[in-house]
Amino acid sequence: MIRNTPSRPDPSLPPIRANFYSDTQTRPTAAMKAAMMAAETGDEQHGDDPTIHALNDRMAALLGKEAALFLPSGTMCNEIAILVHCRRGDEVLAHHTAHIQAAEGGAPGALAGVSVLGLPGERGQFDAATLRAALRERRRHAPPQTLVEIEQTANLGGGSVWPIEKLRAVCDAAHEADMAVHMDGARLMNAVVASGVPAAEMAAGCDSVWLDFTKGLGAPLGAVLCGSAAFIDQAWLWKQRMGGALRQGGICAAACLYALDHHVDRLAEDHANAAALARGLAQIPGIAVETPETNLVFFDTSAAGVSAAELATRIRAEGVQISTMGRYRARACTHLDVDADGVALAIAAIRRAVG
Ligand SMILES: *Cc1c(COP(=O)(O)O)cnc(C)c1O
Repeated sequence: MIRNTPSRPDPSLPPIRANFYSDTQTRPTAAMKAAMMAAETGDEQHGDDPTIHALNDRMAALLGKEAALFLPSGTMCNEIAILVHCRRGDEVLAHHTAHIQAAEGGAPGALAGVSVLGLPGERGQFDAATLRAALRERRRHAPPQTLVEIEQTANLGGGSVWPIEKLRAVCDAAHEADMAVHMDGARLMNAVVASGVPAAEMAAGCDSVWLDFTKGLGAPLGAVLCGSAAFIDQAWLWKQRMGGALRQGGICAAACLYALDHHVDRLAEDHANAAALARGLAQIPGIAVETPETNLVFFDTSAAGVSAAELATRIRAEGVQISTMGRYRARACTHLDVDADGVALAIAAIRRAVG
């Protein structure tokens, strides 16, 4: 029996000293909270919140789209995009490890009535040839294929960055087949900082795209979905229907604006910490590390003869928290609340745990 309610912290465990569980574990900084307290606000549903308007305008410009919509979470961005792009019975094509497929509680089926066809490919990515090979003959018997979904960076692909040429080729192939393209940009700015390719260029071939503010950018809530004015107009209808239309949400949008000003360039530090963590883990017998491209470090524990869950339990007793992504696959995320000392602590704890 699955329990849906998250468990609360176990008081018998020691305090967490280095939290690599996820980049969602960041806490708003004092300066971010001050920006939130100073925010000008109004009733968003009535079109009156100036801080949300400012954030939306800034995001539309950053991602090179006509319009933008502030939403509470990335999951809501994905699901609203699917609802706008697709009709019941349609098929969405995405990598088989995509968040929409694996980590949204079946929402594409439950909410939009679509199915997701999982495509193969290395590191959470697929190429244009794989996409073309998955196209169905357009006939009454087949589900209409209306949307291609891309994750930048690819979370379960090890935080991999889609190269711009590959992105363009996949977008072109999708459009040739009359499909729209949606980019799950939960960690889009990590890809931008790692590659030097501007966000608008990465999103150029996408009909919709969003950025999460609660991952490495360190805000307590919020994500912004961007697209054409017509797309965002339809997205607003779903935001209203789902209860995502806010009142004085500017308090939260202010945290996102603060993050755009102060927490984007520093993602490079997270990438450097991830690289240092990977180098340290690579020295440990029995641990096989996937070379990180951004802030996610995936590693395999099978040669050490210990499951990822057992390893996580052992190092949690030393105050180091990581997550598990498979029986022998563990993930450590770097973010603004872990530093070089935390990296050293994690390497030492994992070495002891498998020794
Ligand atoms: C976290 C995440 C989401 C969902 O974002 P929330 O803000 O947690 O709802 C979607 N896609 C990817 C790739 C993610 O990592």
